[in-house]
Amino acid sequence: MSTGKRKLGTGLFVLFLLAMAFLIVISVSSLYFGYNGYIREEEGYLIYLITGVFGLMLAAYGANQMRSHIVVIQPIEFNVVTLTECEKCGFRNIRKFESGDYVLKTHGDCPKCDGQMVISSIYHEEGQTPGLF
Ligand SMILES: [Zn+2]
Repeated sequence: MSTGKRKLGTGLFVLFLLAMAFLIVISVSSLYFGYNGYIREEEGYLIYLITGVFGLMLAAYGANQMRSHIVVIQPIEFNVVTLTECEKCGFRNIRKFESGDYVLKTHGDCPKCDGQMVISSIYHEEGQTPGLF
């Protein structure tokens, strides 16, 4: 596995998780049977214990392999901006979108005159690197 990070398909990933869960269930029940056999001094308990331990080791190895293949998806940050405009003089101001912004919402006083700033549009600014504002 020297190909570096590669994306696992969702279906394959689910299949892998199911296989891992199955392996862990088999291993744990094997350990349980082995332990019971050991308590009751039955023959053949050792093979259960070995199967259980190897199963768990395989599961741990698989989980470790999977961890190195998981591609962490970064949350996409949209550069949403709010354009505020003065009703009186038409002064415009662009700022980063804040929760609670909506079009036609009054947003403070105009810095140039005594008019009111009103949100005129909210849009996604394209071609900008996220986190510019
Ligand atoms: Zn104004």
